[in-house]
Amino acid sequence: MKPGDLRPLQQAKLARQLDYLIARSPFYRDKFAAAGVRREDFRSLEDLAKFPFTTKEELRESQQASPPLGRHMAADMIDVIRLHASTGTTGLPSFVGLTRKDAEIWTKVTARSFYTQGIRPSDILIHAASLTMFAGGLPAKDAIELIGATFVPVGTGASERVVLYAKSLHPSAIHCTPSYAIYLADYVRREAKMDPRDLGFKKFVCGAEPGAGIPAVRAKITEEWGACVTEGLGNADMVPIIFAECPDQSGMHYNGQEYVYCEIIDPESGEVLPIEAGVSGELVYTSLERECVPLVRFRTRDRVTILGTSCKCGRTSYKLRCVGRTDDMLIVLGVNVFPSAVRDIVSSFYPQMTGEVQILLDQPGPGVKPPLRVVAEYGNGAQDQAALQKKVEDKVKSVLSVSATVQLVPAGTLPRFEMKGQLIKKLFEE
Ligand SMILES: [Zn+2]
Repeated sequence: MKPGDLRPLQQAKLARQLDYLIARSPFYRDKFAAAGVRREDFRSLEDLAKFPFTTKEELRESQQASPPLGRHMAADMIDVIRLHASTGTTGLPSFVGLTRKDAEIWTKVTARSFYTQGIRPSDILIHAASLTMFAGGLPAKDAIELIGATFVPVGTGASERVVLYAKSLHPSAIHCTPSYAIYLADYVRREAKMDPRDLGFKKFVCGAEPGAGIPAVRAKITEEWGACVTEGLGNADMVPIIFAECPDQSGMHYNGQEYVYCEIIDPESGEVLPIEAGVSGELVYTSLERECVPLVRFRTRDRVTILGTSCKCGRTSYKLRCVGRTDDMLIVLGVNVFPSAVRDIVSSFYPQMTGEVQILLDQPGPGVKPPLRVVAEYGNGAQDQAALQKKVEDKVKSVLSVSATVQLVPAGTLPRFEMKGQLIKKLFEE
């Protein structure tokens, strides 16, 4: 469907979703009244901009005020068939409920995303990510099974089993975080004494953190495994994977079409930005057909850049890249710096640098007094360390416009994380 044909469908569905919310969600009834907007104010998709944003903090408060699922719950508990949870910085779980229909929509959109990433019925896929509670766990199982591919639920912390199973099952695909793809290559060399390529994975389906789309990280995974690396993006509050990259590897296609309406906004002013190549901003989701916890203008904190609106694969949906999360962002003398961008720069020196980095913070962010303190590992290819250090510092300065001091440490010094990478080390008591 062409984007132009899609809009009338989205508009009709959003009108119905607003009717449903006003009838069933005390949270949104109050919120709309407080913002002075009425259902009648929505006549076209552009009118959505008149409606207030929803933040993760509001959802947490709503859940604490009215357990188990919050004042924003719009279905009856008897109709809820599954719960997922995400753990935030506060340590308290944030629950998301699904009715049968919600679960079917999650499966459909997530399957569409895995299909975009090149998964076909003939694939055997090792799931080397969390299975329990995580929105990328059981919903990934449902989606892979819907495609007709074979799902192998290995889970996390089981690298030995990944190797063992790969040797006997000859799986073609693996679903994991980009951090794990790099960790596992190290593990296979070190523990199994094998070349990672000999395990035969041809498709790395990555997600849950930015990384697989960072050119240097992608190049490293591709080189280690001899596989095609694609990434996906979504969240537990809306749909597990809403954006996914096709094997052309030129950004993640929008796959939410008739279920999730997306806006790109200026994160400071809240202004809606046009969806066209080169535009950067925060991704905002509105559900179009959801029963348990429909959300209007949910701020994801994901910072994205639109890459284009056409593709060799024939899909007509726009493509984007996630450049980082607002939560992780540092501000050095007014300049926004995503830790993943620092890793990207350091990784570009591979094999002189391993690509492993840590940013040291003396005090809570996001404000950081310059210079930015970076610890990075030099690799086997490193000759003159003093010159290398200067080259990395100069590149950080020229690309990110902030001054940094780079402390070089030997390969293998920094901790490896099996799941999501941790690019920031806090040197202060929280
Ligand atoms: Zn494509």
